[in-house]
Amino acid sequence: MLKQVQNIFKPNYLGALRYASSHPNGYNFELNETQLEFQSVARKFAREEIVPVAGEYDKSGKYPWPIIKKAHALGLMNGHIPEHCGGLASSIFDGCLVAEELAYACTGIMTALEASGLGQTPVIIAGNKEQQKKYLGRLIEEPLVAAYCVTEPVAGSDVNGVKTRAEKKGNEWILNGQKMWITNGGVANWYFVLARTNPDPKAPAANAFTGFIVDGDSPGLTPGRKEINMGQRASDTRGITFEDVRIPAENVLIGEGAGFKVAMGTFDKTRPPVAAGACGLAQRCLDEASKYATERKAFGTSIGNHQAVAFMLADMAIAVETTRLAWMKSAWDVDNGKRNSYSAAIAKCYGADIANKCASDAVQIFGGNGFNSDYPVEKLMRDAKIYQIYEGTSQIQRIIISREVLGRAKTL
Ligand SMILES: Cc1cc2nc3c(=O)[nH]c(=O)nc-3n(C[C@H](O)[C@H](O)[C@H](O)COP(=O)(O)OP(=O)(O)OC[C@H]3O[C@@H](n4cnc5c(N)ncnc54)[C@H](O)[C@@H]3O)c2cc1C
Repeated sequence: MLKQVQNIFKPNYLGALRYASSHPNGYNFELNETQLEFQSVARKFAREEIVPVAGEYDKSGKYPWPIIKKAHALGLMNGHIPEHCGGLASSIFDGCLVAEELAYACTGIMTALEASGLGQTPVIIAGNKEQQKKYLGRLIEEPLVAAYCVTEPVAGSDVNGVKTRAEKKGNEWILNGQKMWITNGGVANWYFVLARTNPDPKAPAANAFTGFIVDGDSPGLTPGRKEINMGQRASDTRGITFEDVRIPAENVLIGEGAGFKVAMGTFDKTRPPVAAGACGLAQRCLDEASKYATERKAFGTSIGNHQAVAFMLADMAIAVETTRLAWMKSAWDVDNGKRNSYSAAIAKCYGADIANKCASDAVQIFGGNGFNSDYPVEKLMRDAKIYQIYEGTSQIQRIIISREVLGRAKTL
């Protein structure tokens, strides 16, 4: 089984070779025609279908099903699903291009869509053909969403503290426990669930947990109330209780004990799109603030003519451009078979921090209007905060980055 796990995470040398032969000069900053088209469809959809309704969803907190149905019909969801399940098997890079555009319009709606990708990724990287066809194929056929259930009321950053447990009984597993802060928790058709299967608390995380696919309509699975969050209110966040939920043995991913690696390996593919989302939010802050700076006058001139404001805009532009390069690098790495935990942590951490800085500066540039919900930037500031928390907090990203730096230092 270990061999199987290693195969899943081993670098894709073929991808790297293919890339090298098509780009003999190495790095390439140009999007190809398909990517430009993809980006343009996503941009049009985001600006025409999401921007006008984002404020309403923020106020009502309703789940954006109508947008999800349209995004599904346009092929803006589920891009990474393999071809044998009816998907496009598209790259992480291409998914990030779409994520940035959707996030520009509303990161709450983007998170609802992206969290389905987060739930799917363990099945994409570790599912067998039957599991993939059954659970991923379903998402291609209908506008349904998945969810990723790892965090618990007492265990977030410290995944090794997960208490939800599964016991094998005959040809089934019986799942008991409670998850918390699950995006798409109340609307998912199925869930990836991480549970402890080795009752020994001293067992190493690497083989103490198992990953399961759990059907949303399983008896004993109960989503809690929709949580009222600071921002990204269109996305659905809930606790979920599992009480004697029966899972068929064929829904285990890879095998008993492989769950931790699957759950953590997922982030290498899902952190680049989170960083791209943060970049989209920061770009929106820059666009809103620079437009306002040309319109609003103070002391007889546009506020953009005051250097203090102009330099804030310049700093925002520097941050947006560099965070875009960071998500592109981390997506490029993983698409080309390179280990990207380090570059994905940098992109996610930096993107989250700059989204917050840009949102706060955009509110500053709007002055009193910026503090008011009739203007777009206060929502951006509320929406930005979660980027420093979900999919690994900024502190956890810095742990990943500093470990790599210190590890390299030993070889200097
Ligand atoms: C809106 C929302 C959506 C979410 N969606 C999902 C989802 O779909 N699926 C899912 O499984 N989870 C989800 N989460 C959970 C999210 O990933 C966790 O909240 C996050 O990982 C932090 O865990 P915690 O909340 O338990 O905080 P804790 O782990 O308790 O951390 C509290 C603070 O301590 C810091 N800290 C912890 N350990 C260390 C350390 N070793 N060194 C330095 N600082 C440390 C943290 O950085 C943080 O600042 C979501 C959360 C929210 C709020």
